[in-house]
Amino acid sequence: MGALSDLDIARAAELEPLTRIAERMGIRSDLLEPYGESVLKVRLSARDELAERPRARYVVVTAVTPTPLGEGKTTVTVGLGDALNHIGKRATISVREPSMGPVFGIKGGASGGGYSQVVPMETLNLHLTGDLHAVTSAHNLLSAMLDNHLYQGNALDVDQHAISWRRTMDVNDRALRNIIVGLGSRTDGVPRQTGFDITAASEVMALLALTTGTRDMRERLGRIIVGSDRSGKPVTAEQLDAAGSMSVLLRDAIKPNLLQTLEHTPVLVHAGPFGNIATGNSSIVADQIGLRTGDFLVTEAGFGADMGAERFFNIKCRTSGESPDAAVVVATVRALKTHSGKYTVTAGKPLPDEMLAESPEDVHAGAANLRKQIENCRLHGVTPVVAINAFPTDHASELEAIRQVADEAGVRSAVCTNVVDGGQGAAELARAVDEASAESTNYAPLYPDAAPLREKVETIAGKVYGASGVDYSQQAERQLDSCERNGLGNLPVCIAKTHRSISADASLLGAPTGWRLPVREVRASAGAGFVYLLCGPIQTMPGLSRNPAAAVIDMDENGEITGLS
Ligand code: ADP
Ligand code: MG
Repeated sequence: MGALSDLDIARAAELEPLTRIAERMGIRSDLLEPYGESVLKVRLSARDELAERPRARYVVVTAVTPTPLGEGKTTVTVGLGDALNHIGKRATISVREPSMGPVFGIKGGASGGGYSQVVPMETLNLHLTGDLHAVTSAHNLLSAMLDNHLYQGNALDVDQHAISWRRTMDVNDRALRNIIVGLGSRTDGVPRQTGFDITAASEVMALLALTTGTRDMRERLGRIIVGSDRSGKPVTAEQLDAAGSMSVLLRDAIKPNLLQTLEHTPVLVHAGPFGNIATGNSSIVADQIGLRTGDFLVTEAGFGADMGAERFFNIKCRTSGESPDAAVVVATVRALKTHSGKYTVTAGKPLPDEMLAESPEDVHAGAANLRKQIENCRLHGVTPVVAINAFPTDHASELEAIRQVADEAGVRSAVCTNVVDGGQGAAELARAVDEASAESTNYAPLYPDAAPLREKVETIAGKVYGASGVDYSQQAERQLDSCERNGLGNLPVCIAKTHRSISADASLLGAPTGWRLPVREVRASAGAGFVYLLCGPIQTMPGLSRNPAAAVIDMDENGEITGLS
C-alpha cells in the first residue's frame, strides 16, 4: 500500500453518483431519499417493489476466532463484492453501521482497509444519517417514561429493584456505567441506581437489526421488557405507553443507508448491534432489499463463526426466513499462528519478530480452529469457502498451508490480495463462491423454536463450541424458569461469551474440548426476539484507553478531518 493511509486512499476516490448505482440495482428514484451527495436512504417500500425480481444468492462472511490483530472480515466482504462485479456478476454488500465508541476509542473506524473500503469513510464512521442517535433517543425515551411512571405514582407497581432497562449513549464513557438518577428534591424524580450502555448494546439496536418491517417494529418495541412488578411479572414498553413514540423516533432509522465501495459496488449499511449480548449482524430489511438487486448479496457477521455466523444462522435467518447459499470463512496466517499458542500478540502492537519468520508448521499447529469454524458452517447445512486473507509479511508456503487445511476438509479456498489490489485481488474467491453457492443449500437452523431454552443452549455449546456440558448458576436456573413461564421459551438464544475463543475462556486457543460452559445470568431481549445468556464478564459500556483516538483526531483549516484511520 506504500505510504498511502486508508484515509488517503478513501479521499482520493472518485465517487459515482448514488442514483446511478441505485439504478443499476433496479431501485427507482422515488424510492430513494438523498442525504447529501454521497449517502442515501432506501425506502422500505423498495422491498415490495422489488419482490418479483430474481433472488440473489445470499453469502455470509465469517472467520476463524478473532485475534487482537484483526482478521479482515470487512475487507474480504468488500473485496468479494467488488470481485464478483469484476468477474461480471452483480453484487450488493450489506454491513453494520460502525459505532462511534471504537472510532474515538481504539484507533480506527470500520470501513474496510486499503483498496477494499466503503466510502466516504468519514461519513460512514461519524454519525452517518443519525440512525445511532435515533436509536439512542428511542431507548432513552423509554427510560424517561419509566422513571416518570415511578414518579407519577407507579400504577403498574414496578419493582424499583427489578428494573433492567438502562440508558444509552454512543460514547465510550466508563464514568456512566453506574449512576444514581432522581437526586435532588421530591419533584426531581425517584432516586434509584442505574447506568448507561453504549448504543450498540441497546436492545433497540438489536431490534432494528432483526425487525422485518414497520408494523413488526412497532410490535417488537411494545414487547420490550423493562423489569418486573412486585409479583415478578414482566413490565413492557407497551404497558408504559412508550412504544408508539419510540417507533416514531425510528421512522427514518428503519430505512437502510446506501453507500458504495471504492469500485462503486453498492453497500447497504444498516444497524450495528453488539456481537456478544446481541447478534452482531446488520439488518434483515437491508438484506431483503439487497437480495433483490443483483446476483449476490454479501454480508458480514461479527467475530468468529461460532459467534456472528451462529447467530446469523440461528437468529437472523430464522427471523427473516431467508436461506443463505454459502459462507466465507476468513483465515489469516497470523491468526492461525496465534492459535498455535506459541505467540502472544497485542492489539495495536506490531507482530512479534519471531512470528514473521517463515513457518508453515505454526500455521498447521493452529489449524484446528479453522477446521472447527468450517464445521460450524456445515452444521447449518451451508457450504463454506475459505478466504485466505494475505498480508504483505506472509510467506507463500504459509498461505499454501491454509490451502492444504481447506483441501483436506474438502472445502474450496482462495488467496485474497484485495486490500492491495482491489476487487481483482479476490477474483479467485469470487469464482469459488459462485461455484459453492450454485450448489443447492441445505440450510437449516440448529434447533427448533419449540425446544426448551436449556436444550437450545446445550445444542450450541455441544455442537458449535465443543463443550462437554453446561453449568447454570442458581440465578440463571431461576431466570430460565421465569423466561419459560413468561412465554419466552420459543425464542432463539444468544450466548454472550468471549469472542477470543470458541470456548468461554479467552485463553483457550485452537478448538478446545472437554470444558463446560458456565451460564451466570439470563436476560430477555423480548422485543429484539431472543434470550441472552451471560457466560463470563461482558462489558456493555466500554471505557477510553490511556491514549484514545479522540486525542489525535482533529480538523484542519479546510475542514478536513485528520487522524482518523
Ligand atoms: P474484521 O472485520 O475482521 O474486524 P477488518 O476487515 O476491519 O477486520 O480488518 C482489520 C484491520 O486489518 C483493518 O485495519 C484492515 O485495514 C487491516 N487488514 C485487513 N486485511 C488486511 C490485509 N490483507 N493486509 C493489510 N491489512 C489488512
Ligand atoms: Mg468487521
